[in-house]
Amino acid sequence: MTDPAAPTPAAARVTPGLRGIKTIEDFDLREKRVFIRVDFNVPLQSAGGAGAVQTIADDTRIRAALPTIKYAMEKGAKIVLASHLGRPESRDDKQYSMEPVAARLGELLKAEVILVDDPTSDAPKGLLPGLRPNQLIMLENLRFEKGETKNSREFALQMAAYTDVYINDAFGASHRAHASIEALPQAVDKKGIGFLIKKEIEMLDVLLFEPKSPYMVILGGAKVSDKIPVIENMIDKVDQFFIGGAMAYTFLQANNVAVGNSRVEKDKISFAKEMMKRIEARGKKIMLPIDHVIANDFLAPSKIETTQDATIPAGFMGLDIGPKTRELYRKELQKAKTVFWNGPMGVFERSEFAKGSFGIAETLSQLTESLTIVGGGDSAAAAEASGYAGQMTHISTGGGASLEYLQGDKLPGLEVLRNLRPSVQPTL
Ligand code: AMP
Repeated sequence: MTDPAAPTPAAARVTPGLRGIKTIEDFDLREKRVFIRVDFNVPLQSAGGAGAVQTIADDTRIRAALPTIKYAMEKGAKIVLASHLGRPESRDDKQYSMEPVAARLGELLKAEVILVDDPTSDAPKGLLPGLRPNQLIMLENLRFEKGETKNSREFALQMAAYTDVYINDAFGASHRAHASIEALPQAVDKKGIGFLIKKEIEMLDVLLFEPKSPYMVILGGAKVSDKIPVIENMIDKVDQFFIGGAMAYTFLQANNVAVGNSRVEKDKISFAKEMMKRIEARGKKIMLPIDHVIANDFLAPSKIETTQDATIPAGFMGLDIGPKTRELYRKELQKAKTVFWNGPMGVFERSEFAKGSFGIAETLSQLTESLTIVGGGDSAAAAEASGYAGQMTHISTGGGASLEYLQGDKLPGLEVLRNLRPSVQPTL
């Protein structure tokens, strides 16, 4: 017999970020025309030469959407998939065609993916009723349409004309109020999220609402300014911050440490000073690099050295955290129960400056009892390149979206799906 007083199992609880939002499992999909907004904005590489065919450099985002697509297929839905890819100027930017994406998805699903050139034409409506179980429709790059980024209601209504159920599974695009993310679901009654967004929000909500202590946050990457709102929103919950990447030099400068020619955001030095004071006033720690890998030039370094301490000589710039810092961060991070990592520790795209980021990835991979979340974008790429990505609890598919969510912003793609009106009105 079940105990009525027993707490609701965690799995059955709706995480705060998803309150009032339906999921794909809440709808009857049989024979329904299901429009799934996916994030297939994958990195492409050219095979070389003018007009050469593009190939997919990393298909992580395609694979991340498979559970939702497969679920809809199993339930007998007639599926339309739609995504943007890159930033095309117009329909003539053929290098941003969804063609290679459709081909890759077809291979992964062992299904036929029919690419429809014009989402505003009659083609989707005409094709959908006759679609066989192993066939799906994919729309051409949504950004070939001017109306997409303008959040055009007219463009949205054209897509709504062939949509019975709208599902958003494009976490990486949900922070943008674009037509396929906001105006389209506004025009559709039956709407919800897919499995990918559900998992993303559940994971980020642990960081926001119930992180286990010690909670440690590693921040790196190019700019302090991008991370300021996240630091501010997290400052009360986080026990220890670790700073790396170009961001570190603004913080070191704020402590009057010589940083040579390293990238410093002069207008953020006072923020860095104040932040360090605020963190320490709360009895918490902020760790800065104690040594660096430095070079005489960013683009064509002819001299690469490792410093003995935190100072960087004139004529050099810091491009990665040094070995002592890697060891210090590793030791401290081993105590963490919850870790969030956003932004690489150095210019990890070049092997000479990748050790700091790969070292962080390796340390996180060893925290098997802890929650380890990587916040998308370049840190996700660094985790992948390190070979340790598989051992993290979660790697977000959305860099910008995960940061905006963690800094407390509302994501348009989620808010448009939220219905918090009580289904039964209280009697007065
Ligand atoms: P973000 O998008 O802010 O996470 O920044 C990622 C970029 O920061 C990557 O392309 C890195 O190469 C770059 N980056 C990391 N460390 C440094 C550094 N010390 N100097 C210049 N760029 C850096």
